[in-house]
Amino acid sequence: MTARVEHGVTSGTFTLDGETFDVDNNVWVVGDDIECVVIDAPHDVDGILAVVGDRRVKAILCTHAHDDHVRVAPALRERVQAPVFLHPADRPLWDLTHTDEMWDVDLDDGVEIEVAGTTLRTIHTPGHAPGAVCFHAPALGVLFTGDTLFRGGPGATGRSFSDRDVLVTSIRERLLHLPDATVVHTGHGDDTTIGEERAGVVED
Ligand SMILES: [Zn+2]
Repeated sequence: MTARVEHGVTSGTFTLDGETFDVDNNVWVVGDDIECVVIDAPHDVDGILAVVGDRRVKAILCTHAHDDHVRVAPALRERVQAPVFLHPADRPLWDLTHTDEMWDVDLDDGVEIEVAGTTLRTIHTPGHAPGAVCFHAPALGVLFTGDTLFRGGPGATGRSFSDRDVLVTSIRERLLHLPDATVVHTGHGDDTTIGEERAGVVED
């Protein structure tokens, strides 16, 4: 059985720098009928488990540690008994949300996660957050970008721990070499492709 991608949307808030916004977040689940991984753990565990069903969760992969992506990571871990993965450069952001719980496994550029016979490769793409990562599944032709790249361009960089130049460099040097047809599954909103975004980012 080959791996497939499913997704749900949770609604809640994002808080940083003393401001709070209403947001809808994508939760991505990659797997087959037996096992899966969950990409990001936003607002509510039950909304995520509705996509997971009764499959075994091998890992909870966090694209970055903004609170709308990691808020229920420890609670989800408790429910499904799976380790939480995060790039350690996002420790300052994680600590804003989770003061007495840690993630389990450090992500780094090149770390590979196997699930349902396919491989997710970690690409470190700092800028939106220092520890922001994307997950590339070459065999599926998909890239999970969190808030690094959206339909319409790079993610936001107006708040603490963000850097616009670093973000654009990450996208140009680490993502735009992927095939044009690569489907980009984002942290918020609609899918796009590398080909659709290339022009906008290069001319930026
Ligand atoms: Zn974010």
